[in-house]
Amino acid sequence: MSKRIDGKQISLEVKERVRLGVQELAAQGVSVGLAVIIVGDDPASKIYVSNKKKACEALGIDSREYALPADTAQADLLELIDRLNKDSHINGILCQLPLPKHLDEKAVIAAISPEKDVDAFHPHNVGRIMIGDYDFVPCTPAGIMEMLAHENISVEGKNCVVIGRSNIVGKPMAMLLLHQNGTVTICHSKTRNLKEICKTADILVAAVGKANFVTADMVKEGAVVIDVGMNRADGKLCGDVDFAAVEPKAAAITPVPGGVGPMTIAMLMQNTLTAAKRQAGMPVKDR
Ligand code: NAP
Repeated sequence: MSKRIDGKQISLEVKERVRLGVQELAAQGVSVGLAVIIVGDDPASKIYVSNKKKACEALGIDSREYALPADTAQADLLELIDRLNKDSHINGILCQLPLPKHLDEKAVIAAISPEKDVDAFHPHNVGRIMIGDYDFVPCTPAGIMEMLAHENISVEGKNCVVIGRSNIVGKPMAMLLLHQNGTVTICHSKTRNLKEICKTADILVAAVGKANFVTADMVKEGAVVIDVGMNRADGKLCGDVDFAAVEPKAAAITPVPGGVGPMTIAMLMQNTLTAAKRQAGMPVKDR
């Protein structure tokens, strides 16, 4: 029988850990602060930012939102980031993506101090993930690793297939699985024999952005299936995996909603706590 991995429940456990960590720091006179920058009125971005703010409030993290108009100039955005880099009350800075087209996303990411880059998108942090010596991991792959650990699913020696090679999900996901001694294959839109490759997966991660992309005939009996996708089909939120057809074949599977999604915010909170501890010169326990 297939096990549904309950990301909502696991995220609550992570957040409780963070809440206690924030409380411990407060007892030592150290506050934890996150600055969230949003440029423009993208409705999805607004929801994400509001959810991040609510999570901060629930955990005792001081959250500051900077809502800038869609026509904000690059220089003004960089000036704000520079100010936040220097603000000792702010431990983490994130700039909600995507940015309006006239802004240079790469330059904006590079302007955030690597010590405050809780999204782990800065090239410095990306490099550190590559060499396996990191403080922050992008929140979605970090959340997936947390779920696997919670479910006692070992990665070592397993065939891991990641569909998708984005900088925020696919590539860091593949690196984390590799660091845990998985044998990793990354697939993308130019991959040939996708179905055959997916069928070799003991752990299959779908980060494509297409509803029902992963069908039952792509999944090996007894595989662990992680669905990162967040798509809208017939007005309903759904993942990349044809859940009804794949679930009976999988040993474990994440649902959408209630799987990877809630973990992403929980890991952002954890990264913010890690940033505060590092900046206060305190040790950070291994995850
Ligand atoms: P992305 O940047 O659009 O990347 C999608 C990847 O899928 C690309 O690497 C693309 O290949 C690959 N792909 C597209 N069509 C394919 C095909 N026919 N066969 C094989 N590969 C194909 O998306 P993303 O940012 O990684 O996000 C992926 C999904 O996860 C989206 O639904 C997004 O909303 C969701 N997401 C969820 C969370 C969460 O918290 N749950 C967080 C982040 C993202 P190419 O590189 O060749 O184009």
